[in-house]
This record gives sequence, structure tokens and C-alpha cells, in this order.
Amino acid sequence: MGILEVKGVNKRFGGLQALGDVNLSVTENTCHAIIGPNGAGKSTLLNCLVGKLIPDSGSVMFDGQSVLGRKPFEINQMGISRVFQTPEIFADLSVLENVLIPCFAKRDGAFRMHAVEQVSSEAELRDMALHMLEDVNMADKRDHHAGTMSRGDKRRLEMAMCLVQKPKLLLLDEPTAGMARADTNNTIDLLKKIRDRRDITMCIIEHDMNVVFSMAERITVLAQGTPLVEDTPDNIKGHPKVREAYLGE
Ligand code: ADP
Ligand code: MG
Repeated sequence: MGILEVKGVNKRFGGLQALGDVNLSVTENTCHAIIGPNGAGKSTLLNCLVGKLIPDSGSVMFDGQSVLGRKPFEINQMGISRVFQTPEIFADLSVLENVLIPCFAKRDGAFRMHAVEQVSSEAELRDMALHMLEDVNMADKRDHHAGTMSRGDKRRLEMAMCLVQKPKLLLLDEPTAGMARADTNNTIDLLKKIRDRRDITMCIIEHDMNVVFSMAERITVLAQGTPLVEDTPDNIKGHPKVREAYLGE
């Protein structure tokens, strides 16, 4: 049993079958990539995992519990965090303030839900946020205005905002999209560092095959909303169906 088990998920947008009978099993503390051509349904699938979309049928189990019918914030509290295709940060706040927001949200959310849980002081939360910024190599930018940073810095900030919540599952939708080469390399290094700690499950959608093959232990290929094949990177590379559907050969 994987930490994430998707079974028979279907999603239609009007006449378009965006997801057709999708099965996906992700093993705890591994990195699993989802690849496929544009419009294959990759983002739709992630949206179904975080409660942004509700599948028409099928089941999504995370850590032994169904996520279906739960709101995005409830799913987040179950331990799923997501990095969006376009970085979603608070542009008018500083870098540090951006990381403090999920710290406060988690503390106060936990306080409401479990009154007995220890409540951290503001100083503790600040330490936690600063430590997180060090981890993503952004401590020197803590007072920078978040909205005017490079795409790569925004992405790293968004990751810090996710990671500071200590999620069990981190979902990444094209984390290097639109980035300059240097930013891409920094982002990959950071993702590998997180993966190698083996205390978080990662599910990554990515176009850059170098990233996919160097990051993932398992790869699922989606084509027209349906999984074509799921295998190790080495087997995926040589798979004739994949070369035909994805690499256009
Ligand atoms: P990918 O992320 O693999 O590029 P998407 O999941 O974004 O693909 O989209 C899959 C298909 O569903 C595409 O044909 C897209 O146009 C369509 N689609 C996605 N979201 C919506 C929506 N909210 N309403 C209508 N069609 C959508
Ligand atoms: Mg997409």
C-alpha cells in the first residue's frame, strides 16, 4: 500500500474526458514523477488530490484516509502541500513574512482543532521560519520584497512555505517551468536535497526530462487522461509506447 492510492479516478469537463480511470500508487518517502504531453491531465490529477477539483468517480486515499469530500485546507492539514505551476506567494510581503504565514496558520489551525496541542510563541515561529529560509538558501533575502524576486527565488520561497508545514506529501506542478538555467539547477539541487532526507514523499510533474530522470524513482506516463505505463526511469526511457506518445517518435 502506498501513502497515496488513487483508484479509478474519472474527471470530465463537459464533453472532454480529462481523466479516464486513473490509478496511481505512490510509495512513502520516494519521489514519483508524472509525465505526459500538454493537456494529458497532469494538473487536473493534482487538483483532484488537493480538493481543488472533485473527481466524478473513483477514490483518492492518503495515509489511509479518503481525501474526497474534504476542503483544500483540510487536505493540507492531513499533510499534503502543493507547489503551484505559477508561484503563489504574497507579493507585497517580505520573504520572511511569507514563510511566517503558514507557520501562524498551522499553529492557529492546530490550536482550534486540538486545544491541548502545545502552542508555539511568536519567537519560536520566527526561528522556525528563519531556519526554513536557511534550508532553501534564502536567509540572506529574508527582508527582500517577495514580489520583485526572480522566478527561481519565488519558487524556492513557495517551497519554503510548503516545507515549513512539514507535509508528508509534497506535490510539485512543473517546479522549473519558465526558469532560467541557473535557477533551474538551484531548484533541482534543492529538490534532490529534500528527496535524499527520505522523510517526505514527493510527487512531481515536470517537462524537463533531465529533471525527471535524475529525480524520480518511479514514473507514471499519462496520455489523454489515462496512465500509459508506470515504471522505473531506466525502463521508461526505452519504452516504445512512451517514445511514441510522449517524445513524438
Ligand atoms: P496538463 O497539466 O497535463 O497539461 P491539464 O490537466 O491542465 O493538462 O488539462 C487536461 C485537459 O483538460 C486539457 O484538455 C485542458 O484543456 C482541460 N481542462 C483543464 N482544466 C479545465 C477546466 N477547468 N475546464 C475545462 N477544461 C479543462
Ligand atoms: Mg499542467
